[in-house]
Amino acid sequence: MDLLHRFEQAFMPNYGLPPIALARGEGSRVWDVDGKEYLDFIGGIATSSLGHAHPALVEAVCKQVATIAHTSNLFMHEPEVLLAERLLALLNAPARVFFANSGTEANEAAYKLALKYGRREGRSYFVAAENGFHGRTIGALSLTGKAAIRDPFGPFPVDVRFVPYGDADALKEAVTGDCIAVFLEPTQGEAGVVPPPDGYFGAAREICDSTGALLVADEIQSAIGRTGHWFAHQADGVTPDILTLAKGLGGGLPIGACVGFGDVGKLFDKGDHGSTFGGNPVACAAALAVLGNVDLGHVRSVSARLRDGLRSIDHPLLKGVRGRGLWLATVLREPRAAAVQRAAAEAGFLVNALQPDAVRLAPPLVVTAGEVDALVAAYPGILTEASK
Ligand SMILES: *Cc1c(COP(=O)(O)O)cnc(C)c1O
Repeated sequence: MDLLHRFEQAFMPNYGLPPIALARGEGSRVWDVDGKEYLDFIGGIATSSLGHAHPALVEAVCKQVATIAHTSNLFMHEPEVLLAERLLALLNAPARVFFANSGTEANEAAYKLALKYGRREGRSYFVAAENGFHGRTIGALSLTGKAAIRDPFGPFPVDVRFVPYGDADALKEAVTGDCIAVFLEPTQGEAGVVPPPDGYFGAAREICDSTGALLVADEIQSAIGRTGHWFAHQADGVTPDILTLAKGLGGGLPIGACVGFGDVGKLFDKGDHGSTFGGNPVACAAALAVLGNVDLGHVRSVSARLRDGLRSIDHPLLKGVRGRGLWLATVLREPRAAAVQRAAAEAGFLVNALQPDAVRLAPPLVVTAGEVDALVAAYPGILTEASK
């Protein structure tokens, strides 16, 4: 494939060389440039919520781009107001919204908002989780607990203390009256789709309440129906002080959001933060189409089918299945995830080798029962192929 060579010549090597060039998609199916068809069980990394070329998304984006594509923040527009109102209605708590273009930018906004709080209160450090992932810009990277991507770019200008994820006692010990904020994913995504023990998020809320630290929920990967709830924290019965969103919100169009609850949402003064593209009308129109078309009931039923189907597979390479909703990892007994990804692609399924021993499944939220059954039926053969 000629594109491989051209890609390699034109791009920085930071992504390596992606193995497949996608040309188009429809629902949960995609086709590569050679016409090979795949069932997409990774959805642009939990991003293509409505699948590919969903008619409502196509119509909303086309209509908006043909009406007005960009205003900058010198002017307001109706799609951004509608979207902010819709998010606040789904959150059902007093809050204020800031729109960015990506996950890492949503976390930058959260980080600056928290810093404002910290300076005002004379607090000095952040707490985040080991193996947590919050993004690649310097602020978000400084909160990211993965040494391999963090250390080459440190040291960072703020004090971030890392605790083992899921350990409420360690969190309690680390968070004092000097702590500005605790950044946590409700389930760790990039670490391998790792849910915490029951009650962990509630414990984090209590620890933050008793010390005055802010609780920041990074729901960039977990929100917008991915877990069968609009927001994963809703399942835990916990409201954070700051919430960040991106991936699934735009259904493939770039948008991120930072939500500040209560008075935290009013901390920025005029001029404190901004983004030229953030809350762009086209991205907002896309997000409105997503929020109008995600069906939580469907996500719940089809995700139970996927999880149960995978759990019923008895294969020597498969150790278990973890995760929530349409956001699962098949955990392997040996570090063969890359081989599983390759064998799956060969068999016509896109999955993601997330960790050496964990394969991520995060299909579009519109994936059908039949498509789920097809993956479950093919998976034992894929595992066998990957074991060779
Ligand atoms: C993907 C992700 C980010 C970063 O989002 P980008 O849009 O890639 O900048 C941050 N936090 C979590 C939990 C993510 O999954």
